[in-house]
Amino acid sequence: MALNGCASAAIKDGDKSVLPVFWYNDKEFLSLSGVRQHSLVESLKALDESTARSLQVVSDDTMSSLVDLAIKQGVRHVHATESFDPEGIAEQRVLAAKLKGAGIELVLEDSYYAVKPGTVHKPSDGTAYRVYTPFFRAWFDAGWLEPAELTEGFIWTERSGESLIPMPTSEASFRVRAGEAFALATFSRFQDRALDQYSEDRNRADLSGTSHLSHALAHGEIHPRTLLARLSGTEGHNVFRKEIAWREFYADVLYRNPHTLDDYYEPRFRNMRYDSGASAQKKLERWKTGTTGFPMVDAGMRQLKLTGWMHNRVRMIVASFLVKDLHLEWQQGANWFEENLSDFDPASNSHGWQWTAGCGTDASPYYRVFNPILQGYKFDPEGNYVRKYIPELRHLEGIEVHEPWLIVDGLTHGYPEPMLDHKAERDESLARLEEIKIK
Ligand SMILES: Cc1cc2nc3c(=O)[nH]c(=O)nc-3n(C[C@H](O)[C@H](O)[C@H](O)COP(=O)(O)OP(=O)(O)OC[C@H]3O[C@@H](n4cnc5c(N)ncnc54)[C@H](O)[C@@H]3O)c2cc1C
Repeated sequence: MALNGCASAAIKDGDKSVLPVFWYNDKEFLSLSGVRQHSLVESLKALDESTARSLQVVSDDTMSSLVDLAIKQGVRHVHATESFDPEGIAEQRVLAAKLKGAGIELVLEDSYYAVKPGTVHKPSDGTAYRVYTPFFRAWFDAGWLEPAELTEGFIWTERSGESLIPMPTSEASFRVRAGEAFALATFSRFQDRALDQYSEDRNRADLSGTSHLSHALAHGEIHPRTLLARLSGTEGHNVFRKEIAWREFYADVLYRNPHTLDDYYEPRFRNMRYDSGASAQKKLERWKTGTTGFPMVDAGMRQLKLTGWMHNRVRMIVASFLVKDLHLEWQQGANWFEENLSDFDPASNSHGWQWTAGCGTDASPYYRVFNPILQGYKFDPEGNYVRKYIPELRHLEGIEVHEPWLIVDGLTHGYPEPMLDHKAERDESLARLEEIKIK
């Protein structure tokens, strides 16, 4: 979006030249996991390639490097796609003020969403939706633009020197692939492989039943309108459209409630009793390292560490386990996801966590506590997902992996006993909920 706006302005100015620039916070970059760093770096390399190797990368923690570059280049406008999450909004405000001080205008273009966050309202009173299903209907009715075609007639400015794409500080466990061309090829493969069966297979952790496009969407490599334009009205396509709309819903909710990035959407949950101190830290460590003794939880946590991605169903299972079995606050899990997910997205992450914790947007009247063992039987019905990520259970056959403690040699290869009794912790969680119920 920013590129088209910038290209049109450059053509109008008569100068025609466009310099693509990427700014990043160098301190934040160092705090990311290896997979996340590699994801960003590969995304930048692909962007550099598709902009005729003219991408200029600048970094610091104040954005001054970006302003200095704009002054040096003698530009009058800087164009950026508008951000709608609290950090992005704050950064764009700082940038706008700094550029203005130098006589340069920051022009914010469109958004990374099909429909701009903050624009879907209840027709009855103009307020925001708190529940997904009516939001979806209104979002669908609002409609969206066709995918943009790249403006023609501009030229890339030749960059001076190296692009300065950062170097990851550690090795990646696999080769990360990124960029628009790769995202389009990924969507084509998904269309051939799984889109028609998406409504049935998307919950199966052991199948490749989803698109794996979240990295590309989170990095802005592909626009959701490009995906939406390729969908028809069949069942699989409709369900996929609804999943894209979850991303849009959460962006809308976070935009209107910026405090919910790390605070409770449903404020009474702030008063719930959560565990803290050294024993809580030990529990958190077992969750992070995938050594809780609950195979489905541990497989998910190891998939995250190894690949920077986790299946949506399993994200719900591990999140429910952290909040409702370990009695820890959702933000601790969300922070770990932020550090490790290559598709990290502030709105989907905070609200995915809050939905599962029971303190977020939700049409459901009851308090959901996922049973990590039953979820395994249901969504990994042959045990292949668990075996893939937990080598200590590979000697077991079929569904034996879901309760290895019941098998004579189930725990002989170093896999731990379950760290807790799920039924007891479920009861404890419900008792703590009772304490904050509005009487
Ligand atoms: C606790 C928790 C944390 C999450 N954190 C993130 C995050 O940081 N970044 C992120 O992109 N998604 C997050 N999700 C949502 C979801 O798990 C991922 O979007 C999905 O697993 C990505 O895989 P995919 O691209 O194959 O999805 P597909 O099933 O192919 O879906 C297509 C696209 O729709 C969107 N989408 C699908 N499901 C959801 C959902 N439940 N919420 C929001 N958007 C959705 C994504 O952009 C996704 O790429 C989280 C979910 C939970 C429960």
